[in-house]
Amino acid sequence: MNTFEDLNLPKQLYNAVAELGFEKPTPIQEEAYSVILSGKDMVGIAQTGTGKTLAYLIPILRDLKYSEQLNPRILILVPTRELVLQLVANIESLTKYMNVRPLGVYGGTNINTQKKAVAQGCDVLVATPGRLYDLAVTGVLQLKGIKKLVIDEVDIMLDLGFRPQITNIFDLLKERRQNIMLSATMTEEVDVLIDDFFTIPTKIAIAVSGTPLNNIEQSSYQVKNFHTKINLLRHLLADKEEFSKVLVFISSKRYADKLYEAFEEDYGSETCIIHSNKSQNYRIRSIKQFDEGLNRILIATDVMARGLDLDKISHVINFDTPSFPENYMHRIGRTGRAEQQGKTILFFTEKEAEYKANIERLMSHKIPVIDFPEEVLRSSELLAEERPVVGDVKNHNRNTTEVVRGPAFHEKKLENTKTNQGGSYLRKAKKYKKSQTRGDKIQNMRSKKK
Ligand code: AMP
Repeated sequence: MNTFEDLNLPKQLYNAVAELGFEKPTPIQEEAYSVILSGKDMVGIAQTGTGKTLAYLIPILRDLKYSEQLNPRILILVPTRELVLQLVANIESLTKYMNVRPLGVYGGTNINTQKKAVAQGCDVLVATPGRLYDLAVTGVLQLKGIKKLVIDEVDIMLDLGFRPQITNIFDLLKERRQNIMLSATMTEEVDVLIDDFFTIPTKIAIAVSGTPLNNIEQSSYQVKNFHTKINLLRHLLADKEEFSKVLVFISSKRYADKLYEAFEEDYGSETCIIHSNKSQNYRIRSIKQFDEGLNRILIATDVMARGLDLDKISHVINFDTPSFPENYMHRIGRTGRAEQQGKTILFFTEKEAEYKANIERLMSHKIPVIDFPEEVLRSSELLAEERPVVGDVKNHNRNTTEVVRGPAFHEKKLENTKTNQGGSYLRKAKKYKKSQTRGDKIQNMRSKKK
């Protein structure tokens, strides 16, 4: 592996890195270095602890020329005040022998003091999104000179509801700039943000180190569609002894709510749910109830995967197959902790088989496929997104084999056939809305009862 010497750093920067006691770049530092130097947009999927901060700071600082201009040229956005302080300290130690002016700004403190600091001039501005925007609209802070934008811990930022502030900040920046983004997990919201604002970014993913793969027994089922997945999960969960503490991962809040609603009748009293639309108190309560064994089943979205440190989970169920293999690693890492044995089951549709192959490539391990149980009802009810595109008659047979073949092995309930008729969208939308509030109410009632 390369050493820092091989990176050909300017002497001042090299000496500062050496003084920090670092000899070899970590994998993300090695990979990010040339991408960032090339000026291309970059998305790095890496957790804290991988050396991700220096992965972007080193190439950025290497490229930063001395300047006396007042307006910042580098902008780094982070979600919390603590991270702002930590990053400024990092930059200060890396630029010990250089002439670089870092500045940190964050909310919850006097804005006038920060206005004065901004007016003094800086090269690298580290900020939380809300305060940055407030400073920019006062006119004290000019962002047109930003050449490189870094958004660190972007999944947390989006989870905290910073999307509007981030969008507003993008509007204040010049279009010609380099965008660098770091996230521990790849979520739907992160993906949308990349699509909206990034230009063909180079993606770098660093496998979660130390994921105890050996302790985790992995298996999978190929399943037709969302509703059949619900039937299969319902079937598996009937074995309460085997499935004693089950964490179900699902990619979006909407699907999480749908699943929660579907379980209300049979597993309602045993199930709790967390996702980022739930209040902090609701989430804490759900996790507590699951951890203490009051609820056997917890439905969670990917954003929640990382922070969870739960004891003795019997199974992690991947209700869908993450399109970013890293997310699978995060998910299954919730079981098999601390040398315990864990089990994980993956549900994949024909469409998701490709994602499964990517995961297997990342792990260098094939996930065994179990035959679909005969006794589980195969539903032909399709979500709007699972249906064939209207008017795409030509491609029907090629792209939507499931849909076309479906009716041949129907054991359909009446209601399933109904949903495919006109007006189903309205019906679905109403149902979904109702389940959200009902779910909340039930959760409240349960916790009051305690
Ligand atoms: P981060 O992932 O950026 O939060 O960094 C995690 C920790 O790794 C920090 O304490 C860094 O100081 C440390 N670190 C960063 N780069 C290296 C390196 N090349 N070798 C050893 N430790 C490092």
